[in-house]
Amino acid sequence: MPKIRCTDRVVGAILASWRYDISGISPEMRRDYENHFAECAQCSSRQRFHRSLDATLAVLTSLSALFFLFALAVLKHIKPMEHMAFNVFGLDVEDTFHMLISAGIAGLIFSLIALALVLMATPAPKYLGGIAAERAKLIEERLPAAIKSLRSR
Ligand SMILES: [Zn+2]
Repeated sequence: MPKIRCTDRVVGAILASWRYDISGISPEMRRDYENHFAECAQCSSRQRFHRSLDATLAVLTSLSALFFLFALAVLKHIKPMEHMAFNVFGLDVEDTFHMLISAGIAGLIFSLIALALVLMATPAPKYLGGIAAERAKLIEERLPAAIKSLRSR
């Protein structure tokens, strides 16, 4: 892979310190950085990398919250069949059940905190919202003309 160099090291260093996120700065200041992203292949690829990293983190933390929620739901339903499973392992039923429930709740809370931190500390919501808006636009373009004329009314 050929090594691409940043075309403007000063701007590149500033952008790197912001993790290539310029969504928080004023529009007139943003223009210079947008120009740099347009002309600098290194910075624009790093920006894409960081935004996909943010999106991945957001998706992973929300998935983890969902899994803990699912685990809690499973635990609730598993109680009737506990006798068989717990007698085999010789575990105390009530203690184990409460331990699993607490672990599930702790995991759920932890995942939700992690998700909130990711959404606050990164531009992931904007990025994901942008993707959703793009998809919606694509779908709308593919709509048959009949539906389009109905919608424009
Ligand atoms: Zn650059």
